[in-house]
Amino acid sequence: MACNDEIVMVLETKQNPSIWKHFDLCLITDNHEMASCKGCGKFIKAAANSILVTGSNG
Ligand SMILES: [Zn+2]
Repeated sequence: MACNDEIVMVLETKQNPSIWKHFDLCLITDNHEMASCKGCGKFIKAAANSILVTGSNG
């Protein structure tokens, strides 16, 4: 439950550029991928070709 996720590295994404221009796909310390909002830095569960975001343009 710890909330100390840290970005290990930012991954390149070549799919869905209309989505990814707003998010960075990041590899997180516990070895999963998350999208990080470029606007507010919030982490959102995601994978390289999809992003599980609903209703937020934040
Ligand atoms: Zn945001």
